[in-house]
Amino acid sequence: MNQLLIVGTVAFDSIETPDERANKILGGAATHISISASLFNINSAIISIVGGDFPRKYLEIFKNRNIDISSLKIEKKGKTFYWEGKYAKNMNQRDTLKTEVNVLANFDPVVPKNFTSPNVLVLGNLDPKIQLKVMSQIIKSPTITILDTMNFWMDNTMENLKKIISKVDLICINDEEVKQLTGLNSLGEGARKILDMGPNYVIVKKGEYGSMLIDQFNTFECPAFPIKRVKDPTGAGDSFAGGLAGYLTKVNLCSFDEIKKAIIYGTAAASFSVEGFGIDGVEKINFSDIINRVDFINKLL
Ligand code: AMP
Repeated sequence: MNQLLIVGTVAFDSIETPDERANKILGGAATHISISASLFNINSAIISIVGGDFPRKYLEIFKNRNIDISSLKIEKKGKTFYWEGKYAKNMNQRDTLKTEVNVLANFDPVVPKNFTSPNVLVLGNLDPKIQLKVMSQIIKSPTITILDTMNFWMDNTMENLKKIISKVDLICINDEEVKQLTGLNSLGEGARKILDMGPNYVIVKKGEYGSMLIDQFNTFECPAFPIKRVKDPTGAGDSFAGGLAGYLTKVNLCSFDEIKKAIIYGTAAASFSVEGFGIDGVEKINFSDIINRVDFINKLL
């Protein structure tokens, strides 16, 4: 079975939307990516770290979905990464109120022995220094390496971020981050500038306006799935990356056309993610639910 290796945060999130609030629920980039990707019939593993405060029942969620957590380190004396965010009335804008890096600050990632040659590698959102350390342990170049990141790392560690950008095949980035990374207001121009930084493909995520894929010669626009009510947008980008990576792991191919198809799977996964708080939206669905939305999106194209 094809393999997907994911590095990213496993976190506690406190989330405030105009209507509701959730305190210290399970979140983190690796969490959302792996749960979304587990809908595909693949072998996956996560590399991350949590503190002694991390409940056992959360570990079971990964295990029950066949996600290898042998490289999810538990630092008994430390505290789990904590993120707090608040959404504006339109749910499109969010403010980060708190980021407590905690155990992640001194994390030395170890790639599991049986995952050193994965078909797909996802460098999920976390310190680029850790992403670089994971990449250096990979023996055989994956079919595709996908990078996700966030403004926090642009603010705090731009030099390492540029290093990792130069080494990956595909970067997923949101519209605001394109502007911050490149200093350009036009998304098309910005995305092209990112191609010059190394990746062969750039995906720009535009929230409810869908996403855009570009390479040197082609552009593809994918609409978002029209959902009735957004409950919590947290993890949408990561669930998108999980669906995208899940599909690419399954087909084990990397081309503009395959990434186009993968984006539609990512879009479907993200649409379920925003329908519930934290992982709730994706946790309760199965692959046929994804297929139904993929078919719907395909008719919009
Ligand atoms: P998304 O909504 O897809 O951007 O992802 C939100 C998730 O990213 C939340 O579950 C957070 O725990 C996690 N997160 C927030 N800030 C960071 C950060 N600076 N580095 C890594 N993960 C983060």
